[in-house]
Amino acid sequence: MIKYKLICKDCDLKFDSWFASSNEYERLKKKKFLNCHNCNSVKIEKTIMAPQLISHKPKTDEKVKLEKYNIVKKTIKDYQKFIKNNFDYVGDNFAYEARSIHYNGKKSKGIYGSASKEDLKELKEEGIDAQMISWIDEKEN
Ligand SMILES: [Zn+2]
Repeated sequence: MIKYKLICKDCDLKFDSWFASSNEYERLKKKKFLNCHNCNSVKIEKTIMAPQLISHKPKTDEKVKLEKYNIVKKTIKDYQKFIKNNFDYVGDNFAYEARSIHYNGKKSKGIYGSASKEDLKELKEEGIDAQMISWIDEKEN
């Protein structure tokens, strides 16, 4: 589809119109099918503006969803990268390690690992600050 800005030579009305192609525009104009909404004049001309193109297929919901998902996924991946660079991985020992940092004053730049919801709940009750984040398995790439 091509969008042209058209102008009526009689009343100066400017309006946008869509055509399947530039040929279609010429064809309609020749047959005097193009007329002004305002004064009904057929003296319609294209303004010199470059035509704008649009793809035939509108984005489907699926594509939009996938794009959104990819954006979220990228955000999580960036976050994961940050965590990997700045935190120590403790695997399934997360709750244990978190406690030893908390109770023994063990020095740590921060840890990450797997913990169950129950673990997190218990840690929270003990005043240990732990956060659950979405994590994408590398294998999903
Ligand atoms: Zn007109």
